[in-house]
Amino acid sequence: MSHATTDTEFDIIINGAGPAGLSLACSLAGSGLRTLVVEQHSLEDLRCPAADGRDIALTHLSRQLLEQLGVWQRIPAGAIHPIRKAQVLDGTSPYVLDFDNAKFGVDALGFLVANHDIRRALIEQALTLPGTEIRTDTTVSGVHTDAAAAHVQLSGERSVRAALLVAADSRFSQTRRWMGISADMHDFGRAAIVCRMQHERDNRGIAFECFHYGRTLAVLPLRPQLASIVVTVSSDQADAILAQDEHTFSADIRQRFDDRLGEMQLVGQRHAYPLVAVHANRFVARRCALVGDAAVGMHPVTAHGFNLGLRGQATLAAEIRRARAVRGDIGAPAVLERYQSTQRRVTRPLYAGTNHIVGLFTDDRAPAKVLRKLALRFGNHCPPIKRMIANQLIERHAANNLFLRLPFLR
Ligand SMILES: Cc1cc2nc3c(=O)[nH]c(=O)nc-3n(C[C@H](O)[C@H](O)[C@H](O)COP(=O)(O)OP(=O)(O)OC[C@H]3O[C@@H](n4cnc5c(N)ncnc54)[C@H](O)[C@@H]3O)c2cc1C
Repeated sequence: MSHATTDTEFDIIINGAGPAGLSLACSLAGSGLRTLVVEQHSLEDLRCPAADGRDIALTHLSRQLLEQLGVWQRIPAGAIHPIRKAQVLDGTSPYVLDFDNAKFGVDALGFLVANHDIRRALIEQALTLPGTEIRTDTTVSGVHTDAAAAHVQLSGERSVRAALLVAADSRFSQTRRWMGISADMHDFGRAAIVCRMQHERDNRGIAFECFHYGRTLAVLPLRPQLASIVVTVSSDQADAILAQDEHTFSADIRQRFDDRLGEMQLVGQRHAYPLVAVHANRFVARRCALVGDAAVGMHPVTAHGFNLGLRGQATLAAEIRRARAVRGDIGAPAVLERYQSTQRRVTRPLYAGTNHIVGLFTDDRAPAKVLRKLALRFGNHCPPIKRMIANQLIERHAANNLFLRLPFLR
């Protein structure tokens, strides 16, 4: 980048006011640090985010983190939907691998909240923070770091400077590229089509994950007769499915779901997302850290994406605060390295595990089909495995462990 015009001084510049960037801004509240969040969209877009069809499954850890940030309280109670039970089905078999909240001593396995409700709550909270500036309608158009600072070029020819730059600019992060950080990217050649549907029978708070042949279908409980639907299909079929009239689409989902919930009807629009998973090979570079999808963009099947993003930003915020408490350099390599090693220990196995699950459950060759059936039965009949999977879904123990290490969040 060219070093244009004057550099303004901040402690931290966050590129991207998505869920990860805004969570980090909230986590730094009260630290005394001057934070600039840069976002290409308008303030109006942030305050009234459009529905994007995503209902995000949040773990207990994520709920606790959002509560600590004062964000959870800003989500209307009626927009938080507990998942009581979960069932995994394979192909046309009626056999299910099931998870029951009562067996794991929790009131819910997790909580579904629309992405636009999360984003609205985050921006409302972030706008109340002293010491945090949110600059909207502004694009980061280049970055450069040296031993002393990160220099960030903004649209409109302005350049700003900070001790630390945080990239929260999505899984296709341009900052990651500018910083020369490579990433493992996996294009599944599939798309997720998401929408909401009303249905005749009560879903009883059960989340269904159906690994059908050729397609997978998730039916996630919102209200007793309203569900969030995620269909993953081969990318070449996505346009045709989006173009189906409402009646044909609804009837097809009802039939694929084996009529479990009776009549089903599309509510609102369908949205499609290409399924590309990304894991950055480093989460830090000189005076730069990656958070959220810029660090790890997950396949949505295991619902880890934002949960990991929240956890990562909390870890980074804790390291920044620790450095600040001793008047240290918040962008020092040792600070960033501690963030990176803690977060990568968590993300690497989940990223690899999720991609293997997707590989197995979308492979329709005979040996994979046999293995899938065995996997579901093994999950049901091996209590330690079942508990391990449930603990991943719930993240209750992770909550305890993380809070031990993040004293500021108590
Ligand atoms: C279908 C689907 C279902 C999902 N389900 C779940 C789930 O159940 N549970 C879960 O935990 N996660 C889920 N996720 C993942 C979750 O949605 C993401 O992890 C999360 O939204 C990522 O947030 P982020 O802030 O990292 O990135 P983003 O939401 O992509 O935000 C990036 C922000 O950066 C801004 N930006 C980018 N470049 C620039 C620039 N140069 N200058 C200024 N601004 C810039 C963008 O405008 C945007 O506001 C799902 C994802 C999908 C697609």
